[in-house]
Amino acid sequence: MSNEPSPPAPALESRRKIFADSPAKVAIIGGGLAGLAAGTALAESGFQVTIFERRPYLGGRASSYQHPGTGEIVDNCQHVLLGCCTNLVRFYERLGVQDKIRWYDQLTFLEPGGRASILKPSRLPAPFHMAPAFLRAACLNLADKLAIAFAMMMLIPKSPRDKGKSFLSWLREHHQTERAIERFWKTVLVSALNEDLDRVSVPYAAQVIRESFLKSAAAGRIGVPSVPLTELYGVAGEYIQARCGEVRVRASVDSFQPQADGVRLFAGGSEMIFDFVVSAVPFDALSKILPQTSDAEPLRNALARFETSPITGIHLWFDRPITDLDHAVLLDRTIQWMFHKSKLLGKSADTPGSYIELVVSASKSVINKSRAEITDIAVRELREFFPQANNATLVKSTVIKEVHATYSPLPGADGYRPSPQTIWPRVFLAGDWTATGWPATMEGAVRSGYAAAQCVTLASRPEAPKFVVDDLPSSGLMKLFE
Ligand SMILES: Cc1cc2nc3c(=O)[nH]c(=O)nc-3n(C[C@H](O)[C@H](O)[C@H](O)COP(=O)(O)OP(=O)(O)OC[C@H]3O[C@@H](n4cnc5c(N)ncnc54)[C@H](O)[C@@H]3O)c2cc1C
Repeated sequence: MSNEPSPPAPALESRRKIFADSPAKVAIIGGGLAGLAAGTALAESGFQVTIFERRPYLGGRASSYQHPGTGEIVDNCQHVLLGCCTNLVRFYERLGVQDKIRWYDQLTFLEPGGRASILKPSRLPAPFHMAPAFLRAACLNLADKLAIAFAMMMLIPKSPRDKGKSFLSWLREHHQTERAIERFWKTVLVSALNEDLDRVSVPYAAQVIRESFLKSAAAGRIGVPSVPLTELYGVAGEYIQARCGEVRVRASVDSFQPQADGVRLFAGGSEMIFDFVVSAVPFDALSKILPQTSDAEPLRNALARFETSPITGIHLWFDRPITDLDHAVLLDRTIQWMFHKSKLLGKSADTPGSYIELVVSASKSVINKSRAEITDIAVRELREFFPQANNATLVKSTVIKEVHATYSPLPGADGYRPSPQTIWPRVFLAGDWTATGWPATMEGAVRSGYAAAQCVTLASRPEAPKFVVDDLPSSGLMKLFE
């Protein structure tokens, strides 16, 4: 492979002419949601798409598999979305799987002991639609509620800019009580952003709060897949193949080399030429396949600045049901969310037992513990929230640790998240970590894939369809702040 910087690409007009007669060939490296979103959009638009995926299955971090120890199909981790995830919802519609998402308008916050506070929208116009539920919430006292209301008011007009401070310091500057921080801000934001509040940038935190609680009731709805993740996303491969595309699994790309008239791709000892390449791999994987040329250095340096945070999922099978709830937010303990998987997957009717998944985001406190220790903590705590679990026998369990689950949305992160365009006119970037304006989410990944697909299309055709979907409009009085 050459160590020389890549030669300049031909002018846009000549590139458009080159691809006018035959479909341009696009290699997509990575079959996670970013790669699949780019691949489906491009295949639909007549590009000849080849997906290269290192693993034997598609979906990347949002996938499921048969767990060897338990024999059960488990998600890599429970994934949820919000109503404001417009690109993800469009992706589901494109694949025809939108009816596999179950939508919920209300969130149940449980205290140890089992007392529930329900957050759900009222008929009041946004941004006041959640106010009655907050006023009723037993898990917060009046001082907490007044503090939260004050901070929310500050976030209504627009998201504050990133001035390098953490959201925790923003909360302290805005007079939040300790309980408001612990039971509301931390509970919502650590799950949504997978990072501790002292390591979260202000705009990302503000965006989550504005979308979930202020903009509209529709934006804040919670969506939970009712099928294992690979069932949800695996159809993207069929979608691409049905449109003359190719999906290669167990196909790891070793490197790529941009040329004036195409991009050379090296995978498993073979060399191939494509008109365009979309890299949709995580940032650390990209830095391994970048060209060894000096022009790659700025991107390599930006990639080196990313940090990650872990997520731990605890999967428990009991001999009987322990709750009627589909899911719940768990306060004041290590475990943060309970998902009643057998109910969500529609299996409670045919099996006597129950399958529960517990999720710990930003799980630095448990990630180095043994799986047995984590299970013990989880079951002990679960019994505090669900007294019925005291009579239930744990039949089997497993713990899935994702040490580098997502990039950390640190203050200043927008300064180094790269846009889809690179210095090489035929190479584009996608992935939840690229500059989407979104935290590391399925929506961010799909958005990045659509943005990269749009760049490929614009680089080869006079007119490009718009793949990236608009945000949901604000409703009620929030329209005044659009
Ligand atoms: C435990 C956990 C829980 C999460 N929970 C949620 C949630 O509730 N809601 C939500 O919205 N998001 C959640 N996320 C985040 C979400 O899963 C990711 O943001 C999203 O799936 C990222 O998609 P991606 O395509 O950018 O990257 P990935 O999914 O990482 O896909 C990249 C793909 O590239 C492949 N690859 C890497 N190197 C190569 C190579 N050299 N050649 C070929 N292929 C390669 C990988 O195998 C992988 O399949 C969670 C993530 C984790 C880990």
